[in-house]
Amino acid sequence: MKTRKALVVLSGGQDSTTCLFWAIDRFGKENVSAIGFDYGQRHKLELECAEKIAKKAGVKYEVAETPIINKLSANSLTRSDIPVEETKPEGAPPNTFVEGRNMLFLTYAAIYAKTHGITDLVTGVCETDFSGYPDCRDIFVKSLNVTLNLAMDYNFVIHTPLMWITKAQTWELADRLGVLDIIKNETLTCYNGIAGDGCGHCPACTLRRRGYEEYMEMKKCTK
Ligand code: ZN
Repeated sequence: MKTRKALVVLSGGQDSTTCLFWAIDRFGKENVSAIGFDYGQRHKLELECAEKIAKKAGVKYEVAETPIINKLSANSLTRSDIPVEETKPEGAPPNTFVEGRNMLFLTYAAIYAKTHGITDLVTGVCETDFSGYPDCRDIFVKSLNVTLNLAMDYNFVIHTPLMWITKAQTWELADRLGVLDIIKNETLTCYNGIAGDGCGHCPACTLRRRGYEEYMEMKKCTK
């Protein structure tokens, strides 16, 4: 059987970094590479985190410049003149949402992947802690997978290892992969751009911390 190669969409956050190590475990380090996107996000530190993590993991990391995403959308992750909302409106995505971003990331990743003979794409999207991003839903990812295969006449397989697991289980997966400390200390999830444990009060920090505490409780009980 031909060795399959995987490309991980790596943003430097908890989820995509966990996916990077999941891919290394599954495909072997020599068959994994990562791609990040510079779309004029408020926090360049994200890309620096991703680069450092990829280096540490020993995989190739490429940054694609996609400033068009910033130009077309107006939200608080890409525009410094729009403040990050501390609480999200009921039933609506938080104002850090960039319309269609995940679809574009996966599409760009697919173009890069095919050019490099890579068939497997890995993304950290998740429906369990669903923040209202329609292009993070399982049905969308499956639909895009079919579309990409048709668009490029290629057999892509999009992997979403976190799709049905909770934040606590994402921590558990990191622990099982032996990278809990890397994820805890070196990733950037915080909307205010602070790596590791973050600012502690934005929606991303709250979700991350709750998941961590829940996992630590789970761990205590199973010991
Ligand atoms: Zn934060």
